[in-house]
Amino acid sequence: MRVEADVDLCQGHQMCQTEAPAVFGFDADADVVVLLDESPPEGLRGEVAAAVRYCPAMALTLSARRA
Ligand code: SF4
Repeated sequence: MRVEADVDLCQGHQMCQTEAPAVFGFDADADVVVLLDESPPEGLRGEVAAAVRYCPAMALTLSARRA
């Protein structure tokens, strides 16, 4: 699975860090998400999918493609 974050769309809500803290970090200075793992293990799919779903800015995308 592959995750992408559009920092231009990100509004710094930090919902994604709550859902999947191993995958999404936060740059407090820039007030945007930081992708910690662009190719998370399949075991984190549920967490990552929740983060993508709940991002209020729709800044996150998840694709099935393995990297
Ligand atoms: S939930 Fe969305 S808007 Fe909030 S920090 Fe994460 S990517 Fe950015």
